[in-house]
Amino acid sequence: MDIKTKAVHTGVYKDSSFNSVTTPIYPSSTFYFDELGKHKGFDYTRSGNPTRAALEENIAALEGGIGCSATATGMAAITAVLFLLAPGDHVVTGDDIYGGSYRVFAYVFAKMGIEFSFINMRDLDAVKKAVKKNTKMVWIETPSNPLLHIVDIEGVIKAVKSQNKAILAVVDNTFLSPYFQKPFAFGTDIIVHSTTKYINGHSDVVGGAIVYRAPEIKDRLRYLVNALGVSQSPFDSWLVLRGVKTLPQRMEAHQAGAMAVAKFLEGHSRVKKVYYPGLKSHPQQALIKKQMQGFGGMLAFELDTKKIPLANFFKSLKYFCLAESLGGVESLIEHPWSMSHASMGEKALEASGMMKETIRVSIGIEAASDLIDDLDQALKG
Ligand code: PLP
Repeated sequence: MDIKTKAVHTGVYKDSSFNSVTTPIYPSSTFYFDELGKHKGFDYTRSGNPTRAALEENIAALEGGIGCSATATGMAAITAVLFLLAPGDHVVTGDDIYGGSYRVFAYVFAKMGIEFSFINMRDLDAVKKAVKKNTKMVWIETPSNPLLHIVDIEGVIKAVKSQNKAILAVVDNTFLSPYFQKPFAFGTDIIVHSTTKYINGHSDVVGGAIVYRAPEIKDRLRYLVNALGVSQSPFDSWLVLRGVKTLPQRMEAHQAGAMAVAKFLEGHSRVKKVYYPGLKSHPQQALIKKQMQGFGGMLAFELDTKKIPLANFFKSLKYFCLAESLGGVESLIEHPWSMSHASMGEKALEASGMMKETIRVSIGIEAASDLIDDLDQALKG
């Protein structure tokens, strides 16, 4: 079945009482037993809920996994996955991952005795060298945030698993969504999402998802999500299920707009550099072709701040909201150095290649011509 059909038809038609075409919201915190030891599959909403189960079925189908846990936020999903580890375990990950992931790794889980190596994951030799006896997980985020560097999922997984098959490979697939990237095809064990972004797509929910490929991991993660209490509410699950049905169409629209805006920015005299996987200037063309079915809706650029101060540029924009987050129908723009990635601290920011002039853009689904006109007038200052 095509992903467009799966997005619309998976996890729906659940109501036999009134034949509702869409999945109902079951806000009940608890479910009564028919008799001792016998219920209809749900007993308490933290552990399981019919509306959330419908969403989980849908996301699992889109990624090609055997199951999914929908969580309260993307960070809740990431936290639950990290709880697969124990003190003394080691994780290999990128030096330019999402700032919130960096924060929970470096400042929360490191304090609990888990060790992290933040490396340039585009360098497969560096990946190989980073693996230690106690390495239990490799954490991949691609394209990277905000510089859109591409990590070779298959290359990294082979590099670590050739040394120890038991190392768990996790991919944060938030930036491209299952519509443009299928990490399970490259040997990934677990996929995480911030469904706050493209999967919901309407900037009205925070949510996350964990998708698994093997039954043992599924059982352990479902146990952890319930034990930690990080599952998603029925109402938010329903909103995400509503949003995900148009994921394929939205991703196409995000991409078309991002391509037009990236080309416009690349030709502008007040822009020093543009980062977008769809541009010929992106240095990883072969990998992009191999691993991605599309380029996505995120781009970044460096403003020539000698010609136009950052504050003037941001202040002049009309359609682009100055806001963190991404993946919604409306275009957002932000300053990673002082906003989304500030928690990394200056040293880690510099090491990752980000600059004070770097601007991140999430292209919505508006007409590209209007977005370009808005940027054009703001670049005049
Ligand atoms: N992963 C990526 C790539 C993100 O960009 C974000 C949030 O921006 C997260 C995870 C965390 O998700 P949430 O904000 O839903 O907790």
